[in-house]
Amino acid sequence: MSILVVEDDERISSFLAKGLRAEGYATAVARDGDEARAMARALGDGLDLVLLDLGLPSGDGLEVLCGWRAAQMAMPIIILTARDRVEAKVQGLDAGATDYITKPFSFEELLARIRAALRTADQPSSTLLEVADLRLDLLSKVAWRRGRRIDLAPREWALLELFLRHPAQVLSRTQILNHVWEYGSDPGSNIVDVYIGYLRRKLNRPGLPPLIQTVRGAGYRLMPPPSTQGEPAASR
Ligand code: CA
Repeated sequence: MSILVVEDDERISSFLAKGLRAEGYATAVARDGDEARAMARALGDGLDLVLLDLGLPSGDGLEVLCGWRAAQMAMPIIILTARDRVEAKVQGLDAGATDYITKPFSFEELLARIRAALRTADQPSSTLLEVADLRLDLLSKVAWRRGRRIDLAPREWALLELFLRHPAQVLSRTQILNHVWEYGSDPGSNIVDVYIGYLRRKLNRPGLPPLIQTVRGAGYRLMPPPSTQGEPAASR
């Protein structure tokens, strides 16, 4: 699941991004309305939820919200703001916000509200990802290979979700780092390779072909071997 955090206070945005990534959500941060609009456009259907601050450097978060709703963008939007007056809440919710949370907030409660917003969001097509014999339920956060459940740590989950969203596509270490870890992480770190190793150990089953390939000098890709492509999992 991919969350866009629109927040100009760097302490709050980095706290949120770090916490959300640790929960397995891919997270992008925008610092003002223009950046938020551009990132939402770039993410397109891949954007699952927005956390929106109202007091932004150039213009108000409410304008951004109204613009998205006018353009028929239906993703859940949770307003996260210091404005705690009833009129502000009513205005935000009436403008199309899914939920409204005031600062200071409890991170545990925010996570629960995010889960609730994602559950009620009407996007059935985006909650189940499938490639070959691998299935991910994005809402319940459960993964299966050939019907057998796989338990994943949050970063492993985010990594596997990234691969399933880009099947057969080579993902560079930098792309993976930016998505699953911090944007601009040290590209010299071997953390991606370490986590690929963890993931391979969890995905591999005796008798089943490996799914994650190393592409020398380029990165990694999730690719079912040709012999298993197109075969229904149930027949094996
Ligand atoms: Ca602000």
